[in-house]
Amino acid sequence: MKFAQPAGGLLVLTGPSGVGKGTILQAILARYPQVWLSVSATTRGPRPGERHGENYFFLDRKTFMDQVDRGQFLEWAQFAGHAYGTPSGPIQSRLQAGQTVLLEIEVEGARQVRHCLPTAVQVFLYPPSLAVLEQRIRARGSDSEVSITRRIARAKEEMARASEFDHVILNGDLNQAIADVEAVLQPMLRTVSSP
Ligand code: 5GP
Repeated sequence: MKFAQPAGGLLVLTGPSGVGKGTILQAILARYPQVWLSVSATTRGPRPGERHGENYFFLDRKTFMDQVDRGQFLEWAQFAGHAYGTPSGPIQSRLQAGQTVLLEIEVEGARQVRHCLPTAVQVFLYPPSLAVLEQRIRARGSDSEVSITRRIARAKEEMARASEFDHVILNGDLNQAIADVEAVLQPMLRTVSSP
């Protein structure tokens, strides 16, 4: 799917599972309430506390694949045994209205966005090490051993592709990483709000 040149800006946060994308984007949303976070669809089940329509749209595989066939995703990818996708309709209308939109997705999806929306700004969050990444995934306490193994294997592939992205930000010190993402976001907000 190819998008017309939108009025608003799209910021893509990508990087391996457990790198801290969710924590950083929550800090960004708290500071910049004018930024709109896209809610993805997934075939994985909800974790405790996750809500349909808020964290994800939790779909069975058939419904998900029907939506793929109907071209309803801006991008989609398989990750650790499940499918994840970004519904395109809401993003299209937010961008056309001039809003800044934030996507939090894995690397394959981010590559697809680069093709359909080349003006999107892409940030790759990099962990201090694979060991730290594994510790963070384990500390979350929400993944099975199989899922942890798949996520770490995938992280190695993803980290090898970091240089494809516009900005690579190390998430060692969380506050520094938030400040670095803000430095990428702020010029986008100024561009959008100027006449
Ligand atoms: P989790 O299961 O930990 O919520 O997410 C697994 C991975 O899928 C994370 O790297 C997350 O950023 C990514 N992800 C979440 N939503 C989407 C999406 O809509 N598209 C793609 N390609 N990846 C997504």
